[in-house]
Amino acid sequence: MKTTLRFLGAAGTVTGSKTLLEHGEKRILIDCGLFQGLKDLRLKNRAPFPVQPDSIETVLLTHAHLDHCGYLPLLVKNGFSGEIHCTVPTKGLAGIILKDSGKIQEEEAERANRHGYTKHQPAEPLYTVKDVEECLPFFATHQYHEWVILDEFSKFQFRNAGHILGSAMVELRVEGKTILFTGDLGRQHPILLAPPETVPQADVLILESTYGNRLHSDNNAKEELAEIIRETFEKKGILLIPTFAVERAQEILYLLSELKAEDRLPGIPVYLDSPMGVSVTELMMDLPGWQDLSKEEIAAIEKVVYLVTDVKTSKMVVADTRPKIVLAGSGMITGGRILHYLDKYISDERNTVLLVGFQAAGTRGRSLEEGAEEVKFFGQYHRIKAEIRKITSLSAHADRSEIMAWLKKFEKAPRQVFINHGEPHASDALRVKIQHELGWNCQVAQPDQFYTV
Ligand SMILES: [Zn+2]
Repeated sequence: MKTTLRFLGAAGTVTGSKTLLEHGEKRILIDCGLFQGLKDLRLKNRAPFPVQPDSIETVLLTHAHLDHCGYLPLLVKNGFSGEIHCTVPTKGLAGIILKDSGKIQEEEAERANRHGYTKHQPAEPLYTVKDVEECLPFFATHQYHEWVILDEFSKFQFRNAGHILGSAMVELRVEGKTILFTGDLGRQHPILLAPPETVPQADVLILESTYGNRLHSDNNAKEELAEIIRETFEKKGILLIPTFAVERAQEILYLLSELKAEDRLPGIPVYLDSPMGVSVTELMMDLPGWQDLSKEEIAAIEKVVYLVTDVKTSKMVVADTRPKIVLAGSGMITGGRILHYLDKYISDERNTVLLVGFQAAGTRGRSLEEGAEEVKFFGQYHRIKAEIRKITSLSAHADRSEIMAWLKKFEKAPRQVFINHGEPHASDALRVKIQHELGWNCQVAQPDQFYTV
């Protein structure tokens, strides 16, 4: 029987990961992500799905980031009723992240209707929290390396991708041929996780390329963090860290726990003020075997931080002007509780705002990164007097050299490599590099391209 791949998303862009595999009549969808970012992309989430959702038998999910799982509630709402296979932590994380996404969709639609800035009357959320709740029972969970039989011709297993908690590559065997989807590939030395697994061979490889044309800085994140804490503490200031709830917050907490163990965290309280960040941190604590951390290391993280979820405590922490370290969402300062801290502290030069992740164009985080003198939120402009610092070495994605090092461990060349999940110039730079250095058959996946395996 013929096996065909079809690139429905993350082709020519970094979001909307969806690859359809057809084998005879059977349809398997690998990842089911939301398109995010610019409006043209986001509108694609509203377009009819390219095949009938109820004609898809199974979804294989690499990890819980929205650009990989965020379309699932809509797929289910529109008729999909098969199993959504993923690892144990991915189910937990996806539940947290999708509910948050449903809530944001509802709030955005509500705001659009209130202010009348919508062409659709009334504006409808893409999906609601209720849609998310209806989607979660379809999840089926697995361990890494557990072969799951789909039918007499096909089976798959998940392999550790080292990207975020529970993240996996999908190794799919169809009639003896191996098709490997990297999903998002982690660093060679992730802070909390085991590094991406070595894979001996694949006939067809679908490879991500977010950083296909870039190298991460090799500064030591812990030393940079220690230095920034010391400087802020000497000024008797407050250190504010806008942070993503998944992985980055826990990485920073881990680095702080190490500094504490080394006596380099001078008696300053650390707060994680983010309901979602707290849920993810608690999930991580509950799943010790899925990380490269000992029980003692996990216990040390628990001890270094005060977890804040309720609004009353959050207000008390904001109001307390003594030196402290606060991690709060959102990571690019597009919203969330970090705004309340900035409102109180950004106009005081003793304080420091530390950026620890990628800041997309158009976000307040990017403005701060680019040295803006003021920033607008809560309906007014705030003068930026606090020091703005950043740590650039933290990333959950392998860079170009790490991707190449991982590829070089293959025992033989895949028959075909497809590069996806990257901006076009990043994907193409990686293609050139792979062809030049490894001599492999390699092409950049195009939107809606078909390929017969
Ligand atoms: Zn990801």
